[in-house]
Amino acid sequence: MLRLSIPNIGEEAIEAVAHVIRSGQLVHGPESEFFEAELVAYLGCKEAILVSSGTAALHLALVALNIGPGDAVLVPDFTFPATANAVKLVGATPVMIDVKPGSYCIDLEKLHETIKQWEGPQQLRAIIPVHEFGYPVDMTAVTSLAKNYDLIVIEDAACALGATHNGIKVGTFGQVGCFSFHPRKTLTTGEGGLLVTNDSVLAARMRRLRSHGVVRTDTGMQFLEAGYNYRLTNFQAAMGRVQLPHLDSWIARRHELAAIYQLELTKLAEQAKLILPTEHIGHSWQTFMLVLPSGIDRDEVIAQLRERGIEGNLGAQSLSCLNIYQSSINRSEFPVAEMLYKKGLALPFCEQLSEDNIRHVVHSLSEVIL
Ligand SMILES: *Cc1c(COP(=O)(O)O)cnc(C)c1O
Repeated sequence: MLRLSIPNIGEEAIEAVAHVIRSGQLVHGPESEFFEAELVAYLGCKEAILVSSGTAALHLALVALNIGPGDAVLVPDFTFPATANAVKLVGATPVMIDVKPGSYCIDLEKLHETIKQWEGPQQLRAIIPVHEFGYPVDMTAVTSLAKNYDLIVIEDAACALGATHNGIKVGTFGQVGCFSFHPRKTLTTGEGGLLVTNDSVLAARMRRLRSHGVVRTDTGMQFLEAGYNYRLTNFQAAMGRVQLPHLDSWIARRHELAAIYQLELTKLAEQAKLILPTEHIGHSWQTFMLVLPSGIDRDEVIAQLRERGIEGNLGAQSLSCLNIYQSSINRSEFPVAEMLYKKGLALPFCEQLSEDNIRHVVHSLSEVIL
């Protein structure tokens, strides 16, 4: 089976994990501290706080920024549900905005319109732009909009570690950036996540909320507020540390493979009216998702690809189509997100793929849909 993606865990990473396990230091420890320092250097930000998942990162960011009941938070309608779930979990209301075809990211004009016309009853507090599949959102536009309307920016860069906007790493533009190290992301620690910020007061709060609200002083531990246990383990950090030096070369390879997909798909896209994903400087290409035309049953395509030994999948969800959010929303407002959710097809994509693999996928796809 040609898998959607394969975690890139070499012997070196396995050795590093084994070494930590033998040491007996299993929870947050020296590897976590080194990994945080290396992530600060890689991303070019002031503070990095490892957590147990991307969802934990989103949740902690909202808690630490005091977003809660009575507040509304703007999110793209096309994303992984965790983006909106985190908002709901702190008691705030997610407000969905449609996305653009091609980038699959938040539609900035619609975002602006919604902000301008906002009448409550909740107070608009924050925007969570999602760098979907690694496509960098125009953070210059988002941050200027946020500044004009006094909104907080929390970047959901869960699938965009290494992506850049104007040469600057995404995740570092907002008050807080959130990343995931889930196995479907380019760098993985199994479960895992990261918070980054340039605000050291906020960082201190997120750090103590990560671990029971505790701070350690000369006189012992002080419990300052009710916190969580959202720590990443020392052995997971060791696994991530080994991968980080390779990340940029993996992303470069992903650009090459995306270009090969685009080339091989040119003819089929014309014949079958496919929408292909847009290339962009700074894209980190976590996923390669194309969009099938309305007449083709995506799930049937996935089933037929599977018979040919190829794993396909949907790309992400349209929040307004999900049971949890359906009732509160006028569904006609999200035509693009709904189309991407229902007709999006993610194809096998990771740096270990060969050009022949890609030609085989495209050939099989044309057999299935033509
Ligand atoms: C993967 C992902 C998440 C969730 O990350 P986990 O580590 O699985 O909790 C959140 N948002 C987006 C956009 C993602 O792609």
